[in-house]
Amino acid sequence: MSGTLSLAKYSVGVGDRFAHQAKPQLEACRKAVQHGVEVVPVWNKSNREHTIIGSTPAETRAAADQAAKALGWNLPYHVDADHINLKTADRFIEACDFFTIDVADMIGRPCEPAALLGFLDGHPGMLADVAVPGVARPFRIDRAFMAQVANQYLAAVEEAARVYRWIEEKKGRGRFITEVSMDETDSPQTPAVLLVILAAVADAGIPIQTIAPKFSGRFDKGVDYEGDVSVFAREFSDDVAVVAYAINRFGLPGGLKLSIHSGSDKFSLYGPIHQVLRKFNAGVHLKTAGTTWLEELIGLAEAGGAGLDLAKEIYAEAYAQRQDLCAPYAAVVNIDPARLPAPALVARWSAEEFVPALRHDPNCPLYNPSFRQLLHVAFKVAAKMGNRYLNLLSEMETTIAKNVTGNLFDRHIKPVFIG
Ligand SMILES: [Zn+2]
Repeated sequence: MSGTLSLAKYSVGVGDRFAHQAKPQLEACRKAVQHGVEVVPVWNKSNREHTIIGSTPAETRAAADQAAKALGWNLPYHVDADHINLKTADRFIEACDFFTIDVADMIGRPCEPAALLGFLDGHPGMLADVAVPGVARPFRIDRAFMAQVANQYLAAVEEAARVYRWIEEKKGRGRFITEVSMDETDSPQTPAVLLVILAAVADAGIPIQTIAPKFSGRFDKGVDYEGDVSVFAREFSDDVAVVAYAINRFGLPGGLKLSIHSGSDKFSLYGPIHQVLRKFNAGVHLKTAGTTWLEELIGLAEAGGAGLDLAKEIYAEAYAQRQDLCAPYAAVVNIDPARLPAPALVARWSAEEFVPALRHDPNCPLYNPSFRQLLHVAFKVAAKMGNRYLNLLSEMETTIAKNVTGNLFDRHIKPVFIG
């Protein structure tokens, strides 16, 4: 289909809370191109994030456009309405060309008995052992299994279709990229479950380009994976195989790929992910969280003087408000209060103490994951400072940019996409 907006094989979702780092983020993608690999940036920001900061999707779009212009970027780039639903989609319509339809809340809602029957009868060929190339053992999919998955997910897929059509009505068919996300839920979806979900997505007529399942293990914000890496590697490999199989079997868009809502910094998974992509010649969308804001703090601290002072002030404020700041993120942060240094102590830190405590270098003895996670959710504190914070970002732009680009390229893009 010509004229249909398609997502590139490799893409990286980047967060930019204060819309000041689009250029150094794009610079990281430019470095990938210089290494011979095209990685397309997608600026993702959720409604919750916009609300907390008081920003608008139009600002994200403007920052992306400006960065592309400044760097002479002539590959695609996108702006993602992240984790939207019917209630929140409206404000994103104009500025975004990528929509992550979040239906996690609908998972487990029973579907209409007629819809269930229709789904089961519509896929008689699935009620068997399904051999997916690249998966070690065939999936045993019987009627009971299909019904169980449908009861869990069919209502969610139907909701995704409603949201999709609503957006399509406003933007026009083929004018935007559609992702369906099911990651913000408690129980992971196995590859066999993913296969059945994709059958339902195809039935619903959603031209899905990326799907974000919930994988096994913990994907906490801004810290490494917690779980069994070998279990994840097998699951991810089977998921990639399932996606390739589903494209042909159900007639889904040819570029369909997995979206990993990584929460950033899943360093121990990046090697295995890269190997699986190689093995299947598959693409992926790696969505990172708003850890770019932590690179802003690192840059401020590294610059010293007023920058370091402000970084300390933000920590002190975050420490005082830690309960409130963590509440909305309870499921995705794991802070050990005993490991949070007292603000009075941090006040005496030099840049050489503050920076390594915050920077995610797992091999550095000074690295403190609790300190990092608290600051990760503390962007609200900086948002309240308004221009005091933003002016320092501009003043210390060079030091910050170096950290933003280095973090995104060296620690994320390179291990996942280049190897
Ligand atoms: Zn997500």
